Amino acid sequence: MAEFTPDKERIAATIDNYKRVKAQVAEAAIKAGRSENDVRLMCVTKTVEPAYINPVLDLGADLIGENRVQEYLAKREALHLDGVERHLIGHLQTNKVRQIVGEVDMIESVDSLKLATEIAKQSAKRDIVSDVLVEVNVGKEESKSGIYIDGLEELLYQISELENIRVRGLMTIPPICDENEVRQYFAVLRQAFADIRSKKIEHIDMQILSMGMSGDYEAAVLEGSNIVRVGSAIFGARKYF
Ligand SMILES: *Cc1c(COP(=O)(O)O)cnc(C)c1O
Repeated sequence: MAEFTPDKERIAATIDNYKRVKAQVAEAAIKAGRSENDVRLMCVTKTVEPAYINPVLDLGADLIGENRVQEYLAKREALHLDGVERHLIGHLQTNKVRQIVGEVDMIESVDSLKLATEIAKQSAKRDIVSDVLVEVNVGKEESKSGIYIDGLEELLYQISELENIRVRGLMTIPPICDENEVRQYFAVLRQAFADIRSKKIEHIDMQILSMGMSGDYEAAVLEGSNIVRVGSAIFGARKYF
């Protein structure tokens, strides 16, 4: 990444934002009758330079999410990642799997048997078990990746036949809509999560419900999310480059 001088005001704003979001997530957890430790705050760091990410890592942020394999691999040397969990949250192409397996702690965007099979294959080569979430397209939007809820259970049974991959939960990005509607989408995923969990399928260890972003993390926590993925509310509006 090119040399540049970080903007001190932006660093200060980022730190304030992080503290505010962290407190609001804790407040939402308590409002939902849960413990604040029950909900993890992921800092979504896509397109953000390390100079703005490291201050929040130094404050104790312990989970980051990146969208693109290439961007993450290029940035990570510059990040203060000691004790920090790293998740890939963006759409993953099969031909990129080889580069990312073993380099992150979780891949949250598995939405096909083909992708799961490739992750399992590359994990076997490295003699590891990869933790993944299955991404669900709750709004059935053509523009989004993720499996439709109708096909979720079948996909999970198919993945459960594979070795070297373990499904830890579900992830979703709901349609852009008002708060009432978004809560309904989150509730649909929470119900699917509970149903599958009660089935006790092999290699499926339903623990994580990853939902909620900058605009709707409170609603998501109220509907049972235990990872909220927050980018712009912490780092400011993204500039794509
Ligand atoms: C970018 C992104 C986020 C964060 O979005 P914000 O609205 O900036 O908080 C969360 N999840 C995924 C999968 C993303 O791609």
